[in-house]
Amino acid sequence: MKTDIEIAQAAKLEPIGQIAAKLGLHEDQISCYGKYKAKIDHRLVAQYEGKPDAKVILVTAITPTPAGEGKTTTTVGLGDAFTKLGKRAVVCLREPSLGPVFGVKGGAAGGGYAQVVPMEDINLHFTGDLHAIGAANNLCAAMIDNHIYQGNALGIDPRRVTWRRVVDMNDRQLRCVVDGLGAKTNGMPREDGFDITVASEVMAVFCLASDLEDLKARLAKMVVAYTFAGEPVTVADLHAEGAMAALLKDAFDPNLVQTLGGTPAIIHGGPFANIAHGCNSVIATRLGMKLADYTITEAGFGADLGAEKFIDIKCRKSGIRPSAVVLVATVRALKHHGGVAKAELNSENLDALKSGFENLERHIKNVTEVFGLPCVVAINRFPSDTEAELQFVNDACAKLGVPVSLSEVFSKGGDGAVDLAEKVMALADGENHFQFVYDENDSIKAKIDAVAKKVYGAASVTFDRGAAKTIADIEAMGYGNLPICVAKTQYSFSDNAKLLRAPSGFVMNVRQVRLSAGAGFAVVIMGDVMTMPGLPKAPAAEKIDIDRDGVITGLF
Ligand code: ADP
Ligand code: MG
Repeated sequence: MKTDIEIAQAAKLEPIGQIAAKLGLHEDQISCYGKYKAKIDHRLVAQYEGKPDAKVILVTAITPTPAGEGKTTTTVGLGDAFTKLGKRAVVCLREPSLGPVFGVKGGAAGGGYAQVVPMEDINLHFTGDLHAIGAANNLCAAMIDNHIYQGNALGIDPRRVTWRRVVDMNDRQLRCVVDGLGAKTNGMPREDGFDITVASEVMAVFCLASDLEDLKARLAKMVVAYTFAGEPVTVADLHAEGAMAALLKDAFDPNLVQTLGGTPAIIHGGPFANIAHGCNSVIATRLGMKLADYTITEAGFGADLGAEKFIDIKCRKSGIRPSAVVLVATVRALKHHGGVAKAELNSENLDALKSGFENLERHIKNVTEVFGLPCVVAINRFPSDTEAELQFVNDACAKLGVPVSLSEVFSKGGDGAVDLAEKVMALADGENHFQFVYDENDSIKAKIDAVAKKVYGAASVTFDRGAAKTIADIEAMGYGNLPICVAKTQYSFSDNAKLLRAPSGFVMNVRQVRLSAGAGFAVVIMGDVMTMPGLPKAPAAEKIDIDRDGVITGLF
């Protein structure tokens, strides 16, 4: 079989105006970025307020392996299956960050015959949104240090500047730096550091804002430092929100591209799924809901993290309500949960599969009972899966009374998910008992407790002294009623990456809590959280190349 990039490059793309027309958009409602990319005016969401909303289909997954289990691939292929069935569907996805593209994971534009195109553009810069977000973030950083340099009227404690500079690259060298060195005219020396752009609060704010006014108001609320007296300093105190929002003007319009099956895809915003909520922008999803009958969207990591945050943060704040959930599972990952080593994942092992199935079972239970949403399991078929293994997962799901479908979108595109699409449609028309995991007016500790016990299966939660103090401070500052955003490993239900399957009875520890006042959540850190990844020993970047005609190779 051809590589992802070979398949993408062989595709005959439709002009972007034609894709826009499928959504009922005229040429004057989009701004073209070349032949195959466009931005859609975000104000259409407000203009179409009276139009009925599309049904929202959330694609999530079991506890993944580092390779990813195929949420993006399934989202794209499912969109094409809807198109095959003559339904008006739109796919909403996150924008890829350059960090993973050049690191281990590769791009984030789907795979095989279920991709969004032009895949090179989408994975490399796209329409420049991430750079604009970086610029807005770094403008704020420059204004903070300039304020200190120019006399520090606000009394900012240089040791307590929490705002960090960003760059969209995996660059561990920049994690901790000392800047402002040299002469007196070069600023105040202080310990500083960089995060990757997608981990910035500007990105989270960008993805939750409902319009430019709301964007500005959220930027203004962000806490960037503390004064010598311990008082929070916000972007509003520095008068930076207007200029930051101005830098984001074009970026805030969602990007339109197409899938290999000619389905419109809106790709916009890409917050980290640990320090932030991990799904595409609210404005993109709402736009998709106004332009089609089915809006299919993905949330990062497994359902314990991604779907929980989609529901408790994004849905709570935007009013978006999913009609059905697609839970992506792979035989390989289930065997991994059953204890099979990476090198052995390609061999049939029914005992391990049976043991690892407990992970899928817990996620199904969470989606249907904790989130109250109708759920279908999509088995993302890999070439190494045996008939006996696929049959086992199928039967085990049937025994639980949950619909299940074999998805072959990677090798067949939309044709590989027609059955899945039909099951999704039936579920989306059925009963829905959508509910949040916690009440936002509960105390922060009670909210953490609810997620840890109901979703993760923890017995109890402990708090480091610093974390408990920050929680008290956040509540005293009047932010106690914000939703929480848990940052923990994506490789286990617990905070220990090695605890596979469906562990219970474990104790979770909150190491640190951070306020994201603009995004509107409190980040709860359990274990280590990486806000500036590094490159692996053999980065994907070493294999990426371009020839004299501009043809790129090695992207995946
Ligand atoms: P996620 O969104 O869950 O992280 P992706 O859809 O990005 O996962 O897929 C992760 C990687 O696995 C991609 O490189 C993709 O091409 C590959 N992949 C996904 N599904 C399959 C499949 N059925 N067979 C082979 N490779 C696949
Ligand atoms: Mg993905």
